[in-house]
Amino acid sequence: MRILIVEDDKRVARFVVKGLNENAYTTSWATGCSEANDLLSEGDYDMIVLDLGLPDGDGLDLLREWRRCGFNEPVLILSARDRLEDRINGLNLGADDYLPKPFSFEELLARVRSQLRRSSKTKQTVMEHRGIRMDLLGHTVTFEGRGIDLTNREFALLEALLQNHGRVLTRTQIGEKIWDAHYDMQTNLIDVYIRKLRKNLGDHHEPPLIKTVRGVGYSMP
Ligand code: CA
Repeated sequence: MRILIVEDDKRVARFVVKGLNENAYTTSWATGCSEANDLLSEGDYDMIVLDLGLPDGDGLDLLREWRRCGFNEPVLILSARDRLEDRINGLNLGADDYLPKPFSFEELLARVRSQLRRSSKTKQTVMEHRGIRMDLLGHTVTFEGRGIDLTNREFALLEALLQNHGRVLTRTQIGEKIWDAHYDMQTNLIDVYIRKLRKNLGDHHEPPLIKTVRGVGYSMP
């Protein structure tokens, strides 16, 4: 599951990103309106956490624009504006939830989960392929009926591979999906995680579940 955080306060953003990552969500962070729109035009997100007071505009205008363009995923407003009329305004413009600052991360997480649960009723959240069964909401993976323990990064990596099975994912694509813009392409972290993932799956298939495409990336045939 991929969440976009639109927040100009670095401290708040880091706190939210770190917490969501620790709970196996993949995150992207935008510090303002134009960056948010850039990220949204480049990728798919399952949910947006939106601050209202942004340096280059108002989050409510962003929200109005997104809804007008047909963006249907849940939007949770996270804002210091906590007057009743602010909340009503936000909800009327198409927000799904409104959490005033200051907030506890546990409450944010509970609300994120609840929104994703609701929206996932119309979406595929269980993926099955070649004996692997991945439940994105329950955060569980089984392989040939056996439960597999994965770290959050391994989980996100497997999710990306499964969602694109039959296609090759380049190392750059994997880096962007799993590590956002923070991935240093000079490192071999991706290969390390692929190795761990293969080991954890205990793959004995021929052809293997995760195929190395030399010089390009990986695929799940
Ligand atoms: Ca702000």
